[in-house]
Amino acid sequence: MDVVTIGESMAVFSPESSPLMRYAATYSRKFGGAESNVAIGLTRLGHDVGWISKVGNDELGKGLLSFIRGEGVDVSQVKIEHSAPTGLYFKEVRSASNVRVEYYRKGSAASKLTIEDLNEAYIAKAKYIHVTGITPALSESCYETIIHMIKVARENEVKVIFDPNLRKKLWSEERAREVLLEIAAQSDIVMPGVSEGEFMFGETDPEKLGELFLNHGASLVVIKVGAKGAYYFTKEESKLVPGFPVEQVVDPVGAGDGFAAGVISGLLDQLPLTRAVERGNAVGAMATQIPGDFEGLPTREEIEQFMNSSDSEDI
Ligand code: ATP
Repeated sequence: MDVVTIGESMAVFSPESSPLMRYAATYSRKFGGAESNVAIGLTRLGHDVGWISKVGNDELGKGLLSFIRGEGVDVSQVKIEHSAPTGLYFKEVRSASNVRVEYYRKGSAASKLTIEDLNEAYIAKAKYIHVTGITPALSESCYETIIHMIKVARENEVKVIFDPNLRKKLWSEERAREVLLEIAAQSDIVMPGVSEGEFMFGETDPEKLGELFLNHGASLVVIKVGAKGAYYFTKEESKLVPGFPVEQVVDPVGAGDGFAAGVISGLLDQLPLTRAVERGNAVGAMATQIPGDFEGLPTREEIEQFMNSSDSEDI
C-alpha cells in the first residue's frame, strides 16, 4: 500500500425538501468520513490505499463498505462489529461559511476499534500512514489504537501524516488539546488549519505556527489558509503556495480532506514540495465545487485539466 488510513465512516443525511433539517421531510443519504474521503481522493489519483475501520452488522454498514470498496480502496482490514451500529450524521449547508452537523455516532461500531484490530504487517508495508484527530476522540480504545498504530509505523520507518481535524463536539477542549499535541509530536508531517494551530498553540500567525509545529517534532508542516492556499515549512524553507480561485463555493466540507489527498499524492509522486502543496490546493478547490464530502474529488486526468486551465498565480 502507498497509504494506510484509519477512522470512522458514516451514513450522511442531507435535508432535501427544505435546506434546513428542522423542516425537511426528505433527506438524501450518502456516505462519508474524513479518513475514507482522503482514501477515496488518493485512489482517484491512482494510488494504492488501505482503510482500517469497523462497521456495524447492519444495512448502512454493508452499503458503506461496498461503496468504499467500489471506489477502489482496500477494505480487507475493515471488521464487522456485531455489538454496535454503524454511525450516522446529518449535515445542513446553510451557506459556504455556515455548515451544521449533528452526530449519531456515540458508541458506534467504529468507536469499538481496539489495538487487536491492527494488522501490524499490513501497516509496516505502507509508505505512509494517515491519521486524524477525529479517531482518538471516539473512545479511549480508539485513542489507544491510534497511538499504537503510530508506534508500529515509526518502528517500521513508515512516515506518519497527521491532520488534527479538530471536532469540538466529540471531546472536551482540554483532552483534545492534550491528545492533538501528543500525536503531532510523533508525526513526520502535520497538516493543520490556522484555527487548529491556534487551538493547539494559542498562535494565529501561520509563520510562527509553522515554527512551533517544527519544534514540536514534525519535519514538514503544511498550514491551510482556506481560499488563500497553504503554507509549507521545513527546517530549510518555507513558502505560501497560493490557492486556485473558484467562482463560488458550493460545499466547503471535504476541502481539507481533498487537500490532504492532493498533497500526499504529490509526495508519493516525489514532486518538489511547492508542487505537492499546489496539487493539494487544486484538489481542495475542486472539492468545494460539488455538493458532498468526496464527490468533487478529481481523477488524475481531471486534476491535470483543472490545473492547466486555472489561472492560479505563478509560483
Ligand atoms: P474542512 O472544512 O474540509 O475541514 P479545512 O478547514 O481543513 O477544511 P480549508 O482551509 O477550508 O481546510 O481548505 C483546505 C484547502 O482547500 C485550502 O488550503 C485550499 O487549498 C482549498 N480551498 C478551500 N476553500 C477554498 C476556496 N474557497 N477557494 C479555493 N480553494 C479553497
